[in-house]
Amino acid sequence: MKKISNADLRNYTTYKLEGKVACVYFPEDVTELEKLILKLKKENMKYKILGNGSNLIISSKYDGVLIKLENFDKLDIDGNIVTVGSGYMLPKLALECAKKNLSGLEFASGIPATIGGAIYQNAGAYGEQMDKVIKSVTVLDDQGNIKNLNKEELQLGYRDSILKHESLICLEVVLELKRDSYENIKQRMHNNLLNRKEKQPLEYPSAGSVFRNPPGYSAGKLIEDAGLKGFKVGDAMVSLKHANFIVNVGHASGEDVLQLIKIIQEKVKDETGILLEVEQEVLE
Ligand SMILES: Cc1cc2nc3c(=O)[nH]c(=O)nc-3n(C[C@H](O)[C@H](O)[C@H](O)COP(=O)(O)OP(=O)(O)OC[C@H]3O[C@@H](n4cnc5c(N)ncnc54)[C@H](O)[C@@H]3O)c2cc1C
Repeated sequence: MKKISNADLRNYTTYKLEGKVACVYFPEDVTELEKLILKLKKENMKYKILGNGSNLIISSKYDGVLIKLENFDKLDIDGNIVTVGSGYMLPKLALECAKKNLSGLEFASGIPATIGGAIYQNAGAYGEQMDKVIKSVTVLDDQGNIKNLNKEELQLGYRDSILKHESLICLEVVLELKRDSYENIKQRMHNNLLNRKEKQPLEYPSAGSVFRNPPGYSAGKLIEDAGLKGFKVGDAMVSLKHANFIVNVGHASGEDVLQLIKIIQEKVKDETGILLEVEQEVLE
């Protein structure tokens, strides 16, 4: 199995955070993945499944290893049923489906996730989420069993699924899409992408929205009102374009991002009494 030791963390998160990780493994198939998990468990080694690293803050002190499922990239389209490996990139999938006149993933075309990461999070945008198109998911549990979970069993909620609460690895996903013309689908994708480009600081590395919107409030507005736009810790900066984004303007580390998050939470709490809840996942 391919593996990279002492790997440069910058290549594994969309924040492009500084640091090294002891090892990144790239299993070819489920047999290799199963064997690897058993070995790591036996050695008591901490591990994390990595999608595209677009929702992760990895500390430079993280002492586990990463498992990247980029070889789980099979795609099969049969009528309106799409079977896709968990390592397949979501924007590419949306485009491939559009070419087959299949609609339903337009909302996801600007989310830089793998399909596995998007299921884990029930990723969503513009009022739609992955749950709209999921039919079933094949997972590997930590006892080495392969199971098929239907939509109900996945317990999909707001940025939530059973994968977050049980030790399950998403291997493959079946989606059910609807028919529409390529032109209509492309137009919706184009509009969504334009909207993102206008509102989000896509010119800098980031991991999307940092905080959940508290009920009735916009996290970005609360941060902006606290006067924190442009505030920096090291090279981690509150975006000038969208205050709910932290961007890496140079050589930020996970520690810089985490310290900045703490400062934002304290300042917003002091001024409004609201504690902002972090949406991104931290590996320490
Ligand atoms: C510019 C930008 C815009 C964004 N916009 C949005 C948006 O509109 N909506 C939205 O919801 N999110 C958005 N995000 C955040 C992010 O893309 C999503 O949270 C996405 O679902 C993360 O997927 P990933 O493959 O990068 O997962 P990672 O960040 O690599 O991992 C996230 C979690 O998923 C787990 N995971 C990944 N793959 C698997 C698998 N195969 N099996 C089990 N667990 C797995 C990981 O272990 C980890 O716990 C944005 C991010 C960026 C950078």
